[in-house]
Amino acid sequence: MAQSFDEEFDGKFDEVFDVVVVGSGGAGFATALGAADSGLSTVIVEGSEKWGGSTSMSGGGMWLPNNPLMQRDKVGDSREEAIEYMMASIGTPSKSASPQRQAAFVDGVADFVNTAEKHGVEFVRAPNYPDYYPELPGGKIGRGIEVKPLDSKRIGSWWDTMLGAVPLPAKTDDVWLLGRAWSTPSGFMRGAQLVFRGAGGVVTGKRLTGIGSAWATAFLEAVVLKLGVPLWLDSPIEELIMDDGRVIGAVINRAGKKVRVGARRGVMLAAGGFESNVEWRKKYHGIEGSPSGNEYNTGATITLAQKAGAAVELMDDAWWGGSIEAFPGGSPSFIVGERSMPYSLMVDSEGKRFANESESYVDLGHHMQQVDGGMGPYWLIMDSRYVVRYFRTFAMDPRANKARKEAGLEVKAKTLDELAGKMNVNPAVLRGTVERFNGFARAGVDGDFGRGNSAYDRYYGDPTVHPNPNLGAVERAPYHAYRVVLGDLGTKGGVLTDEDGRALRSDGSVIEGLYAAGNNSASVMGNTYPGPGSTIAPAAVFGMRAAREMARK
Ligand SMILES: Cc1cc2nc3c(=O)[nH]c(=O)nc-3n(C[C@H](O)[C@H](O)[C@H](O)COP(=O)(O)OP(=O)(O)OC[C@H]3O[C@@H](n4cnc5c(N)ncnc54)[C@H](O)[C@@H]3O)c2cc1C
Repeated sequence: MAQSFDEEFDGKFDEVFDVVVVGSGGAGFATALGAADSGLSTVIVEGSEKWGGSTSMSGGGMWLPNNPLMQRDKVGDSREEAIEYMMASIGTPSKSASPQRQAAFVDGVADFVNTAEKHGVEFVRAPNYPDYYPELPGGKIGRGIEVKPLDSKRIGSWWDTMLGAVPLPAKTDDVWLLGRAWSTPSGFMRGAQLVFRGAGGVVTGKRLTGIGSAWATAFLEAVVLKLGVPLWLDSPIEELIMDDGRVIGAVINRAGKKVRVGARRGVMLAAGGFESNVEWRKKYHGIEGSPSGNEYNTGATITLAQKAGAAVELMDDAWWGGSIEAFPGGSPSFIVGERSMPYSLMVDSEGKRFANESESYVDLGHHMQQVDGGMGPYWLIMDSRYVVRYFRTFAMDPRANKARKEAGLEVKAKTLDELAGKMNVNPAVLRGTVERFNGFARAGVDGDFGRGNSAYDRYYGDPTVHPNPNLGAVERAPYHAYRVVLGDLGTKGGVLTDEDGRALRSDGSVIEGLYAAGNNSASVMGNTYPGPGSTIAPAAVFGMRAAREMARK
């Protein structure tokens, strides 16, 4: 007789599949793809009314070292260099980032990419995007790939229920050049190409989409439409069903009706992180959090796994970064290239610089925590040249700009002293900070934080600014300052898993039948973000590895 956390269970299932996948984001689709490709009957249960999760809202970039596209393009990379780089940038701060799991990630890249391509997913490389620490041993430029922009009409009415459906045929590798569309010829060309791509789609009756929504479109088409995997919306998991310590199924609330679903090979928990769980954010992170991802991700499945005996790790960490603070009724805007352009700097609530503004977002987040536990506020300050020359993703909507000004989240002034007053910081401190920064900008060397030293910093810089493409003196009025908070792209703590995504107890033993991947699991990347797309890539690779493991049973 099966045991269950559901008292009413009488041992009979309403439906039985080989694999039950919980969550329809990157980890979920990759698991379902691998399972269906292996001939296993599979269902995806999505708790919310929208599918795609944070993955569909994202940039859709995947950091996949030594991937088949690089091999085809004859770009030098190898298993050894990839592992060397991961070890150098990540180390082994957690069991989830063990050398064995890092190697399993690298070894799983080809199967994920080849299987997706076999079922019609088309990828393109982001050839100019560097690893985030390209100067470390094994570091490279061009390991990122993404789904090629495509016509979203291919998925029919599924488009209407995708969480991140945006008809914009952009690529992640466009972003660095778009940031300087008005200041450099290459940036202008990239902007023009994007406009032509979009206009071409309109003329030919297509609804082209790119980045995360292209990722979701392509994988839904492959998994649901071509391989026939059912995707149930509005179907949160409520309980795991266990027999003698092994997970054999799950209780699903399918559109209000309790359905007991058997899982012959396993249940994959791919329900994202806990970024939208305010209580957990306060408990593990000391702040309520300003997430940019899926509001539905609350970590409920991490609790289910713990109930089944699973260990958790990295709960105190997240895919951090700086975000422009949300105005009332709005959302925080995650900033990447915007804090890297010249004629700008960031300060803490006292008006002091605290980090290399151009560094990776996860590093910036950790530095914000070091300053004041992430309480903030922090400010992104820029002069008038920045405003004229560079594209700010967060400033495109005039209503948002107005709301931010009204809430005091964007301030503008003719002098630095006046700006300091509006930011509520000591004018003398701010003046001193800017004077020191301007000295570095003129010399081209950031003596405090090394901004512009790395190829990663310079990727988001302006090559027409000399001697350092990330540094420009902040000296031309009017000055602008935007309030910045410790934001995130999701959390990275969760269920501890092995090389094949199997959930582990704290003694290292395997919970048979239970798997986790993506932000539902503790990350193989430890406390680091080694390269562009370091969350979706491991979500996909470990989802695929878990599916292959279930197929081997
Ligand atoms: C603006 C933005 C840009 C980003 N850009 C990138 C990028 O370019 N590259 C990159 O690697 N990362 C990026 N990220 C981060 C990345 O999107 C996430 O880390 C990643 O998508 C997480 O994938 P996942 O499969 O774990 O979770 P998700 O994609 O969030 O999927 C989880 C799914 O599970 C569902 N779910 C939750 N609870 C339950 C439940 N109880 N029962 C059933 N279903 C449930 C959710 O509704 C959701 O659909 C970005 C994030 C944002 C917000």
